[in-house]
Amino acid sequence: MNNYFTEYENLEVHELMLRDRPRQEAYYNAILKNKELFKDKIVLDVGAGTGILSAFCAQAGAKLVYAVEASNLATKVALDLIDENGLTSVVKVIHSQIEEFVLPATAEKVDIIVSEWMGFYLLHEGMLDSVLFARDHFLKPDGLMFPSECTIFVAPCSVPTLFDYWQNVDGVNMERFASKLRLQKSTRPEIIQLKSNDLLHEGIVFHWMSLLDVNPKDLDEICFKEVVATQIAGKHQGFCIWFEVRFPGEETVVLSTSPHAPETHWKQCVVVLPEDNCETLEEKSPVAFQILMKRSANDARKYNLEVELLDPNVEEHPMPCSCHMTKC
Ligand code: SAH
Repeated sequence: MNNYFTEYENLEVHELMLRDRPRQEAYYNAILKNKELFKDKIVLDVGAGTGILSAFCAQAGAKLVYAVEASNLATKVALDLIDENGLTSVVKVIHSQIEEFVLPATAEKVDIIVSEWMGFYLLHEGMLDSVLFARDHFLKPDGLMFPSECTIFVAPCSVPTLFDYWQNVDGVNMERFASKLRLQKSTRPEIIQLKSNDLLHEGIVFHWMSLLDVNPKDLDEICFKEVVATQIAGKHQGFCIWFEVRFPGEETVVLSTSPHAPETHWKQCVVVLPEDNCETLEEKSPVAFQILMKRSANDARKYNLEVELLDPNVEEHPMPCSCHMTKC
């Protein structure tokens, strides 16, 4: 069995997700507050895990739910959960990778695909490819995706929890150690929770996609170049990346992993700048950068993240620009 799936056999991985209240509430509200969308519908839960989302769909009135799960959790946990909740007549647990799943010969395609596939900075783990495979093979032409849209945001930020410590460590100045540490940290994104006032900008959209029409090829490389004007003064120590997903329905539900929103297990992905520029940036300072998120050649479930600081004197500023440079 693929290592990726055996990792999901660890129940504590599921505990972490099930205790993540913003995650739970988003899926619960998206499904159970939009019951009219689920009533008498056929649903496919891609990567059912413990079976929680399939149970929500059955409780919302679906007539049939295929709960497809590749790991052993399908037989060890999901079957039991469905039985425990008296939902066996509606939810069919299938122990299979979605790529190998086949609908029964006479069965119709599904009305709705539900999945919780998001990884750090949205795309880590590459599970979205499997969800898009499911969409292309099993979803009716006018079917719905839960979630249906996702957006990745980026903002220049301070990272005080990593760097505001080293001037005086029990009477010893360790700033030179801190520089080396910082250089090391800059080679790998940090998954940490920032406070909203660590952000020097509220965040700009780095990438948006609709799950109804995004193509797996579009996920291989995402590049974004921008000049933003900081909205508060602070030390520019890195870039913070987060995402949100939206669900269809009258009752709009958004699951946000922003530092402004309640903490989730995804936290944020912070790319630390390798050198400390001790100057505090004033409000309205232009920060020019380019981000490249590129699928790793060795492991399609991982991405290489490259952030490049550019010269705001050279880059074209978006118009209208609110930075303090005279040309703006
Ligand atoms: N839906 C559950 C679990 C989400 S975690 C919940 O919301 O709590 C993602 C799950 O998808 C894991 O259990 C993983 O084993 C499963 N998974 C990932 N890729 C899959 C694929 N290609 N086919 C089937 N299951 C998959």
